[in-house]
Amino acid sequence: MAEFTMELNDEQREVRDWIHGFAADVMRPAAAEWDEREETPWPVIQEAAKIGLYSLDFYAQQFFDPTGLGIPMAMEELFWGDAGIALSIVGTGLAAVGVLANGTEEQIGTWVPQMYGDADDVKVAAFCSSEPDAGSDVASMRTRAVYDEAKDEWVLNGTKTWATNGGIANVHVVVAVVDPELGSKGHASFIVPPNTPGLSQGQKFKKHGIRASHTAEVVLENVRVPGHCLLGGKEKLDERLARAREKAKAGGERVKNAAMATFEASRPAVGAMAVGTARAAYEEALEYARTREQFGRPIIDNQGVAFQLADMRTQIDAARLLVWRASWMAVAGKPFTSAEGSMSKLFASEVAKKVTAQAVQILGGNGFTREYPVERMHRDAAIYTIFEGTSEIQRLVIARTLSGMPIR
Ligand SMILES: Cc1cc2nc3c(=O)[nH]c(=O)nc-3n(C[C@H](O)[C@H](O)[C@H](O)COP(=O)(O)OP(=O)(O)OC[C@H]3O[C@@H](n4cnc5c(N)ncnc54)[C@H](O)[C@@H]3O)c2cc1C
Repeated sequence: MAEFTMELNDEQREVRDWIHGFAADVMRPAAAEWDEREETPWPVIQEAAKIGLYSLDFYAQQFFDPTGLGIPMAMEELFWGDAGIALSIVGTGLAAVGVLANGTEEQIGTWVPQMYGDADDVKVAAFCSSEPDAGSDVASMRTRAVYDEAKDEWVLNGTKTWATNGGIANVHVVVAVVDPELGSKGHASFIVPPNTPGLSQGQKFKKHGIRASHTAEVVLENVRVPGHCLLGGKEKLDERLARAREKAKAGGERVKNAAMATFEASRPAVGAMAVGTARAAYEEALEYARTREQFGRPIIDNQGVAFQLADMRTQIDAARLLVWRASWMAVAGKPFTSAEGSMSKLFASEVAKKVTAQAVQILGGNGFTREYPVERMHRDAAIYTIFEGTSEIQRLVIARTLSGMPIR
């Protein structure tokens, strides 16, 4: 009979401790500086590349961990170190996953290495889907991709927004509309190779949190990319569009696919990021509560403080369990019949917001200053309920999946 265990194996523990060492020794001491500078922490990314932590190999290894826990474990430790720097390190992975999910073997082999560069010349990549008028409502996307058959080139026009690493990336992955009649089924993804004319960075955003991570608009003006830059290839696209047109004619399926397998599999990774930030703030608060004295005794001596810490830790552990369950389901090929991936992201991101706010409260006046890291962690935590689908969108997906109804 298969043995059930909730313990990490030796290899996983070793990897976790190695990442934790980098997070504690390199990321944490640099966090406040890069938060203030609001710039991509290139030297830290380079350090990570030197030890193999910023590389395709590392992520592939975690991705193929047969228990499914490789990625969530890595995310939790990196985001425990610092969320802004960690996003600068893992942002490339978002674009790489776009290629791994839809690209041919040749496309994966050509483009993914160029996304990372090498330790002497590190590069980053960007995944550009969101637009000013198409955030949660992906079907409203307007960026167009038109095929120029004579030249076997695709021509991209439009404006992307909120792109992590947008404009500073070596390789951009851009989602665009190829058939406006089909809504989100008429979208396709394209590689925009390094130095392609017509792609430029628009506004760089000044943000509330994760300020070390670069977020910007990406403007596409008559960007011409070779036919082989369409992810998956033209034949596969034509087949997919033909199927979608058939379905649209037959009335389509409305709610059946509310929990889309790819999102259900990727959302737990964002949940794990949130767990990392929450755990970091909780640890700071626990230590502070043990050492800060008021009324002649440590503040943790008051149930009002100690019970908050008990709740914080309980919620963090519950969030991690949801994340691990969904990550295991993804790798085991289990169907997400209750949108368990969305559940894990929803719960963990809300926990991170709550726990970091409680940590600020436990540190009192010090929690409100930039002298202590919980202030930054609290700002950083606000992103988790917004990107990769807001909390409201997660609830919509869960509710639709549970009910089979087109809930709005
Ligand atoms: C720092 C940062 C990094 C990002 N990185 C990337 C990236 O690399 N690539 C990329 O493509 N995108 C990226 N995004 C975009 C992100 O995914 C979007 O911000 C997100 O999907 C929400 O879209 P929106 O901002 O347009 O908000 P909107 O969709 O306008 O939502 C506004 C509010 O309305 C609510 N709402 C909307 N529709 C509904 C509904 N049907 N029911 C209930 N409530 C609803 C939302 O939950 C939200 O509270 C990033 C965003 C940020 C802030």
